[in-house]
Amino acid sequence: MSSFVFSEKPIPMESGEGAILTARDGTEYLDFGASYACTPVGHCHPDVVDAITEQAKDLLYVQASYPQAARTALYDQLADVAPSDVDNVWLCNSGTEANEAALKFARSATDRTKIIATTRGFHGRTMGALATTWKDEYKEPYEPLIGDVEFVPYGDAEAMAEAVDDETAAVILEPLQGEGGINPASTEYLQAVRVHTAQHGAALVMDEIQTGLGRTGTMWACEQHDVVPDVLTSAKGLASGLPLGATLVRDWVADGAASHGSTFSGTPVVCAAAGATLDVLEHENLPDHAAEMGQYLREQLTERVGDDVRDVRGEGLMVGIEVKRGANRLLRDLALNHQVLALPAGRTVLRLLPPLVVDEQECDAVVDAIEAVVS
Ligand SMILES: *Cc1c(COP(=O)(O)O)cnc(C)c1O
Repeated sequence: MSSFVFSEKPIPMESGEGAILTARDGTEYLDFGASYACTPVGHCHPDVVDAITEQAKDLLYVQASYPQAARTALYDQLADVAPSDVDNVWLCNSGTEANEAALKFARSATDRTKIIATTRGFHGRTMGALATTWKDEYKEPYEPLIGDVEFVPYGDAEAMAEAVDDETAAVILEPLQGEGGINPASTEYLQAVRVHTAQHGAALVMDEIQTGLGRTGTMWACEQHDVVPDVLTSAKGLASGLPLGATLVRDWVADGAASHGSTFSGTPVVCAAAGATLDVLEHENLPDHAAEMGQYLREQLTERVGDDVRDVRGEGLMVGIEVKRGANRLLRDLALNHQVLALPAGRTVLRLLPPLVVDEQECDAVVDAIEAVVS
């Protein structure tokens, strides 16, 4: 039987190390997309594997109301790396759940219902988060979703100023859109959104599920814009590929949060994996490395294929290449003929989200491959 949800790629995978995925037939692939931003410290980092193994020997499950060392340590680590005072933590199992909680907490803390989201935004696929996701194709067959969601054009500060009012519970957005096409936002825009939400007592929810954990060159992308949100969501690479989401909130949101819960909130093995992941990010200085490698990668791409594509953009190791024809054929060519795995972001954008441990040689190999398929 095969999945009726995912289109299957014809490459059965067996093992991973660093930025390399090895298929069952022994072929090695450069993973610049297959791990979906879920392996910031590389595939199967030994520290993460050790932490998982050790924790598994002691305890696999206890409900979150009993303190447990790996979970308590992770709460502290997350509070440490969180922007300023966004240091109350809710743990769940995915990005969409982290956003779902963000919307619930914002509604109960403000006692309001209206949510503002942005065109081309992506926040997940459960009913609440889906309602704030832009693409109709994902939403329409499942409607009605939660009501009272208004979309404004991403990057348009005036439209945001008009939309946010005293009925607004939350504004949710990505500081750099991923799925929507690798669309950066300006500092002026994000700061304006911060001002308007603060003025009206609405929660600013920054979805850093794809941008966070060092990918754009700083631990969180919002740091580069000097914007501190009320709620920050993380997931994807937080536990190096084990399922974990986090909703980090300021005191006023935590104080106003009503009843919430989950059976699998902060289970021991997953927390141990996340603790080790955060340690490696820090010890190996991976946010700085991502900034450096990302700049190198974008410079090389611009130099080598700048004339053959419409645009090269992004921050750190979150890179988009807008191509002149459909992205899917190019992705297939890259994978099958050049052993380079990447992702689409919409119909015409190739998206690169490699592990943050990649080196110049690996970037060079990917640039060679992209040059071969686009020229
Ligand atoms: C992937 C992603 C999500 C959803 O995360 P899931 O774990 O797939 O539910 C939400 N927001 C952004 C920005 C993402 O990239």
